[in-house]
Amino acid sequence: MNHPARCDRLRTRLRKEGIDALLVSSTANVSYLTGFSGDSSYLLVTRDRTILVSDGRFTEQIREECPWVETHIRRTTGIRMSAAVAKVCGSLKVSRIAVESAIMSVAALGEMQLAMPRVEFAGSSDVVESLRAVKDAGELRLIREAIDLAERAFQQFRGAIRAGQTEKSAADHLEMLLRAAGAERGSFEAIIAGGPHAAQGHARPDQRPLVPGQPIVVDWGAAGRFYKSDLTRVLCLRTIPAKLEAVYKVVLKAQERAIQKIRPGIKGQDVDAEARTTIERSGFGRFFSHGTGHGIGLEVHEAPALRPNSDVILRPGMVVTVEPGIYLRGWGGVRIEDDVLVTRTGHEVLSTLPKGLDSVLVP
Ligand code: ZN
Ligand code: ZN
Repeated sequence: MNHPARCDRLRTRLRKEGIDALLVSSTANVSYLTGFSGDSSYLLVTRDRTILVSDGRFTEQIREECPWVETHIRRTTGIRMSAAVAKVCGSLKVSRIAVESAIMSVAALGEMQLAMPRVEFAGSSDVVESLRAVKDAGELRLIREAIDLAERAFQQFRGAIRAGQTEKSAADHLEMLLRAAGAERGSFEAIIAGGPHAAQGHARPDQRPLVPGQPIVVDWGAAGRFYKSDLTRVLCLRTIPAKLEAVYKVVLKAQERAIQKIRPGIKGQDVDAEARTTIERSGFGRFFSHGTGHGIGLEVHEAPALRPNSDVILRPGMVVTVEPGIYLRGWGGVRIEDDVLVTRTGHEVLSTLPKGLDSVLVP
């Protein structure tokens, strides 16, 4: 992956926005721009310099992961990040700095201002994030890998779940399978929720046992090398009740229609509306309580958002989840989630696990 080229693309963007220097403090953004996988490090990007301000714990790792990047290594004992950044900015004679306003805390900004009283600070948002939204070939390879890891783990998981097992033990098992498949870990704590618990979109697996004849929502993903996947499937032990069949068919139709809508030039809200109107027409409109999808990449939730009033325009190279759901209090829920690439002519569904009604039944 060509990280210096990413920094150059960022520079072009900064120039357009009239920003002389951007202090990148988001760990994911620093990774994206440099390939450095550590944390606690800020990246200062000016018109002609790229300087990673880090500390002694990471010297060796930086040499390994991004030898091309200029570094300023501070001593963790006594030298604060703000003082280190001040030193770098002083030597470069930077007089205005944009910080990532959605990332940097008020306290950290206060420290920066204190350390650099003559520097003017401004907030900036989503500059690096908007670059990250469009993936290059190398990133797509890693996302496909993260999806493959998640799918292989799920296939084993599916063959192993049984009635009476608790959600928590099933979730622990899935995490173990993800790691055994080659993932660094799950890309987030998997959601495994059965019966009424599945009515919570983001239920935490607990000691409830899995009960036959109830929907079990499994929402999981793999963190591969840097990149993440995010998938959801519904399972049901032994027999599928009529109500589950009915609700499932609605969600599946909504999901498939939303996926069909995906192509360059369309807005995030258009994809959302496709799923939402399908569910509304079936009478379940008020039980679909979240957005239709989100971007995935270095983080499991990133740009672009597919939700009402999202006016982001889809472009080739974006990778999004499509995950409508219906949640009925006291009964349970259904959500189906796939990862989809926006291509030049339309889309490609990257995830491959079956999702027809017959794939729900675990005999
Ligand atoms: Zn998910
Ligand atoms: Zn998701």
